[in-house]
Amino acid sequence: MAEFTMELNDEQKEVRDWLHGFAADVIRPAAAEWDEREETPWPVIQEAAKVGIYSLDFYAQQYFDPTGLGIPMAMEELFWGDAGIALSIVGTGLAAVGVLANGTEEQIGTWIPQMYGDATDVKVAAFCSSEPDAGSDVASMRTRAVYDEANDEWVINGTKTWATNGGIANVHVVVASVDPELGSKGHASFIIPPGTRGLAQGQKFKKHGIRASHTAEVVLDDVRVPGSCLLGGKEKLDERLARAREKAKAAGGERVKNAAMATFEASRPAVGAMAVGTARAAYEVALEYARTREQFGRPIIDNQGVAFQLADMRTQIDAARLLVWRASWMAISGKRFTAAEGSMSKLFASETAKKVTAQAIQILGGNGYTREYPVERMHRDAAIYTIFEGTSEIQRLVIARTLSGMPIR
Ligand SMILES: Cc1cc2nc3c(=O)[nH]c(=O)nc-3n(C[C@H](O)[C@H](O)[C@H](O)COP(=O)(O)OP(=O)(O)OC[C@H]3O[C@@H](n4cnc5c(N)ncnc54)[C@H](O)[C@@H]3O)c2cc1C
Repeated sequence: MAEFTMELNDEQKEVRDWLHGFAADVIRPAAAEWDEREETPWPVIQEAAKVGIYSLDFYAQQYFDPTGLGIPMAMEELFWGDAGIALSIVGTGLAAVGVLANGTEEQIGTWIPQMYGDATDVKVAAFCSSEPDAGSDVASMRTRAVYDEANDEWVINGTKTWATNGGIANVHVVVASVDPELGSKGHASFIIPPGTRGLAQGQKFKKHGIRASHTAEVVLDDVRVPGSCLLGGKEKLDERLARAREKAKAAGGERVKNAAMATFEASRPAVGAMAVGTARAAYEVALEYARTREQFGRPIIDNQGVAFQLADMRTQIDAARLLVWRASWMAISGKRFTAAEGSMSKLFASETAKKVTAQAIQILGGNGYTREYPVERMHRDAAIYTIFEGTSEIQRLVIARTLSGMPIR
């Protein structure tokens, strides 16, 4: 009979404890300051680089953990420390995964080290897909990449928005349409090397939460990159486009739509794990506060009204983690997501984080509403999880379509 365990192995526990120590000693104490400054916390990223947390090696080790739990465990601990700073640390990973998933070995070897830099000179990278008129509806992307055969160059024009690390990144990975008729099937990803002319940061957003993470527009004005910057190479792209055109022809020339973004199914549990980290952090603060705050001559946790809230909070956090772990295990084991389990995990965990952090404010009363205590920040931070990597509505759309097989709108 196959062995079944829900216990982390010794190596995983060691990594978890190490990350927790970094989150508690380095990230958490810096959280309030960088939230107020609304700037990238370079010194913290540098610390993370020094100890090996900010590196491709670390990311790859967790990514290839055969149980699938490496990434969710790492995300939960770092985001337990602070969501804005943690996103500044793992944001580069989003771009790196884009290259790992679609790039050739040469592209991986050339560009990923430049995304991270080194401990003495840290760099960050950005993944730029969203646009002002193409958020959930990725297929409406307007950024165009046109091949200039004579010079073996791609010419890219368009405006990206909401890019984490956009404009401050050493390397940008930009998704652009090479054939608008094919909708999302006509998209391709490009590396924009450091110092490329024509790429500029647009507006930097002042945000509700995760304020230590830089989010900005990226404007691409006649950006020219060598043919070698097309991720995966031209031959592979041409083959993929030919297949997509055949399919589109068979479907009567209808434009291929992909509002549901089902392709992110395997990466969504990682966002769920971030949400679990934030929810757990707020729950712990609320539990401790409820134990020690006295009103009417007794700790407030003596009231069922408070204690039951904490019971519900913890139950939902644990349920969220289980959904995240299941989806992560399915992804690494090559199981098919027949019920959109990746989206389920992200949907439940992100909604849980919003709810639990709001409950934490309530339990802390007036103190919860101030910046003297961290739950106010955690609640602002938690709101992002139901928005990026597909909103909660889009997750429901993916789940409903997968379950029903119907083109639900
Ligand atoms: C802080 C931050 C960081 C981000 N980082 C990145 C990044 O690094 N790279 C990147 O490419 N993008 C990034 N994003 C973009 C993010 O992925 C998008 O904001 C998200 O996909 C939603 O798109 P939108 O904001 O255009 O909302 P819209 O798509 O306009 O949605 C608005 C509302 O309409 C709802 N809605 C839309 N379509 C439907 C539908 N068919 N059915 C039901 N409801 C629907 C949505 O759920 C939402 O409630 C980031 C965003 C933020 C805020």
